[in-house]
Amino acid sequence: MALSCEARRLFVLHCSAEPVDRCSYCGQHFCALHGDVNRRVCNGCLPRFFQDAAREAAEALEARRREIGVVLNGKGLCGTEGCGNPMLTCCDRCKVHYCSRHVSRHEYSYRHRTLAGTHVRRGTLVLCSHCTVFLDEYRRDRYSLV
Ligand SMILES: [Zn+2]
Ligand SMILES: [Zn+2]
Ligand SMILES: [Zn+2]
Ligand SMILES: [Zn+2]
Repeated sequence: MALSCEARRLFVLHCSAEPVDRCSYCGQHFCALHGDVNRRVCNGCLPRFFQDAAREAAEALEARRREIGVVLNGKGLCGTEGCGNPMLTCCDRCKVHYCSRHVSRHEYSYRHRTLAGTHVRRGTLVLCSHCTVFLDEYRRDRYSLV
């Protein structure tokens, strides 16, 4: 264990406090003031920690939603819990089938940038009501060499 807190990268010029733990991200030792002991993360890595935690929670929620959807689809029903309509169309993103009320077609365009220039491309997507929040991902610029 280091002799003193290594919070220098947090623009702390010198902290001579005794380290209480080691950061699970960057491995630096931190004192009680310059890190979160319960989470084992130094202050410098906390933003990354919260980002990861939020992403993991969202992924877990989506995995759960897909599980429920697949079970409902097995009975011929829309993947939305409590909807009860017959399933109709498959969502392009989560691959669960939904009824006409919970799935819709979206048109989008994005800029495709290559060495030869930039082209605007268009596409259509079938997305369920849960996945429409990801439409922005499809609208992002894309890059390729050819
Ligand atoms: Zn750290
Ligand atoms: Zn410190
Ligand atoms: Zn979906
Ligand atoms: Zn439905």
